[in-house]
Amino acid sequence: MHPAAHPHPDELKALAEKSRAVKLLPNADRGGPATPLLSVTGLTKHFPLARGAVVRAVDGVDFTVKKGETLGVVGESGCGKSTTARLIMQLLDQDAGEMLFDGELVGGLELPLKEYRRQAQMVFQDSYASLNPRMTIEASVAFGPQVHGLSKNNAITRARDLLAKVGLDPARFAGRYPHELSGGQRQRVNIARALALSPRLLILDESVSALDKSVEAQVLNLLLDLREAFDLTYVFISHDLNVVRFMSDRVMVMYLGEIVEIGPVETLYAAPAHPYTRALLAAMPSMDPDRRTEEAPLAGDPPNPINPPPGCRFHPRCPFAEALCCAVRPELSPVGEDGRQVACHINTPGARHSKAPPALEIIP
Ligand code: SF4
Repeated sequence: MHPAAHPHPDELKALAEKSRAVKLLPNADRGGPATPLLSVTGLTKHFPLARGAVVRAVDGVDFTVKKGETLGVVGESGCGKSTTARLIMQLLDQDAGEMLFDGELVGGLELPLKEYRRQAQMVFQDSYASLNPRMTIEASVAFGPQVHGLSKNNAITRARDLLAKVGLDPARFAGRYPHELSGGQRQRVNIARALALSPRLLILDESVSALDKSVEAQVLNLLLDLREAFDLTYVFISHDLNVVRFMSDRVMVMYLGEIVEIGPVETLYAAPAHPYTRALLAAMPSMDPDRRTEEAPLAGDPPNPINPPPGCRFHPRCPFAEALCCAVRPELSPVGEDGRQVACHINTPGARHSKAPPALEIIP
C-alpha cells in the first residue's frame, strides 16, 4: 500500500468490526441516542500568576457534543480552545464546572478517570513530540492497550491492524521509529494510537495544521472515514475556518475564554450572528469573487486575559459596542430556529442596546 493512500470505507468498516471483537471493554451507548456524548457545564480554568494575578483561560463555558457529530472549535490564539481540549481530556484539573460523558459524571463512581481516558482520546498538533522517539511505531500504538490489560501479542496484533486502517502498511512501517516517517505518516500513527483503546470521543487539537495541504486533505478524508467506521464523535479544533467548515456539523466560536456563538455549521457560516463571528469569517480567504465581504476586518489583538474587559469581553473591538456592552456581560442565549446560541446584547430581545429587537410579548 502506498503510504499516502488509505483503505476504502467498506474495508475500514470490516476492520472496525474485527476490532470491536477484540476491544478492551464494551462501548455501550448507555445514555441512549438523545443523551449528548459530552455535556460540559460551567467549565473554568484560571492559571495563577505572581502577585495574585490570574489568566482566565476558560471562564465558565457550557456546551454539549452530540453522539456521532463533529463539533468544530474556532477562535484566535489565546481564546481558550486548547485549554478547553485539555480540560475535556482531564489533562488539566478544572477550577469549577463538571462534565458528563454519556450521562455519567467524569471521574465519578460510574465513570472513573482511567475508563474515561480510554473512551476519550486526543491527537495533538505536533506529531513528532507526541511519539516516544525510542519506541517503534508498532510499540507506541500497542502501549495503551497493554496498559489497559491486553496481552502483548494481542496488543501488537491490534496495533498492526490499526496501522493498516490508517493507511500505513504494517509490513513496511511497524518497525520504524518516528524520525523515519514524514509528518503526515506520523500523524496517521498518532490517530492509530488514539484508536487503539476503542474510544468514543476524539479531540483533534490542530491535528492537521502542521501538514502540507495535500497531506492535510488525505488525513481529513481519513478522519471522516474513520468517524463512520468506528462510530466516533469528534471535537475538532483549528484556526483554519475552511477546514472547520469541511469537517464539522456544528461550530463553537470562542473569544477570550468564553463561548460567543455556537450553532450548525452551514447556517452559522451563511449568517453569523455575533459581531466577532462575522469579523472572523470576513477574514476567511475565499476563491469566490462573489463571496467577497465588505465587513470591516477585525482590528487589534485580543485584550489581555489577565484582566479581561468588563461586560462583553469583545466590546473594545466591537463596532456596535454601546454603554450596556461595557457594563453587562451578555449571556449565551438561543437565537432563531436552528439551535443557534449567541452571547450578544444585539440578539437579546428587550436588551438596552439600540440594535436589539423589542422585548417578546408575554401572552398570559
Ligand atoms: Fe458588540 Fe455589544 Fe454584542 Fe459585545 S454585546 S458583541 S460589544 S454589540
